[in-house]
Amino acid sequence: MKKILLIATGGTIASKPTKHGLAPAISPKELLACVPEIEKTAEAFEVQPFNLDSTNVSPRHWLEIARIIEERYGEFDGFVITHGTDTMAYTAAALSYLIQNSAKPIVLTGSQKSVYLRDTDARKNLADAFAYCADDGASGVHIVFDGSVILGTRAKKTRTRSFNAFTSIDFPDVAAVRDGKPFYYIPQKYTGDPVFYHSLAEDVFVLKLIPGLSSDVFDYLDGRARALVIESFGTGGLPAYGGWEARLSAYLKRGKTVVFTTQVEREGSALDKYEVGSRLKGLGVLEARSMTLEATVCKLMWLLSFAAGDDIGRLFYTPVDHDIL
Ligand code: ASP
Repeated sequence: MKKILLIATGGTIASKPTKHGLAPAISPKELLACVPEIEKTAEAFEVQPFNLDSTNVSPRHWLEIARIIEERYGEFDGFVITHGTDTMAYTAAALSYLIQNSAKPIVLTGSQKSVYLRDTDARKNLADAFAYCADDGASGVHIVFDGSVILGTRAKKTRTRSFNAFTSIDFPDVAAVRDGKPFYYIPQKYTGDPVFYHSLAEDVFVLKLIPGLSSDVFDYLDGRARALVIESFGTGGLPAYGGWEARLSAYLKRGKTVVFTTQVEREGSALDKYEVGSRLKGLGVLEARSMTLEATVCKLMWLLSFAAGDDIGRLFYTPVDHDIL
């Protein structure tokens, strides 16, 4: 039987009601006890590095999860991480960059309702996560949720309440878990040794454009972020009014990295399509194309921690786990 380490980090799945709303309070042992069928799938062990609503999860927690997996990689056949759904897509993306080419599956899951509620999705999600994690065909970093197996670099939370909370953006689900068995749509098994990274640069900023926004926002950004992601409109562009282009050029001349992405959920950016976007390429900006915002942010944090100059652009466009097409 496969040995799987449950890394419990909090979220709704581990929450109980308090006077001020739900808050994480359930231990990993209690979680496992709620899903007895896991015993038939795997030998489960557990650790709880923190017990947080995922709103409170930050890059140092991603590094902590990655450190636990690296330290205990030899002991286990796979890892299941229970996590709040709100920032799970960021954690999944971050782990996809921090732990690459992992032959052993690293599976994130959570739920929309606490494990103790009668109509919860927690028990199914946890059982599915273990079933997928224990399967010989599984490897790499994925989210298992509502029966879907989604690449860590492709996941986005697209519903705040429904059980099908996560969507694989511009990439198919890689598998489905049905009646406790994975069915692979895109079989991909990593072999060989994993590559672990140990740092992230946190000074990445996301700016969402709205019509009429003042470019004075650069007064704030100039001395701060090393990388700026601009969530612009449609296929991507910058307003011709308000001195945006001059402020952006000055920002780039300070050696900053700027990535254009889109506010539209699907089909990505295409800066060359319209004049409002094509003129930006000459300034030296990058574009996220089909990458999710979560993957874009985490890839920049990962790259800025070790790369500089032209290498950042080259590596940004080098695919990791199908993050960019
Ligand atoms: N606020 C919760 C969290 O992200 C939501 C959830 O887990 O579904 O921790």
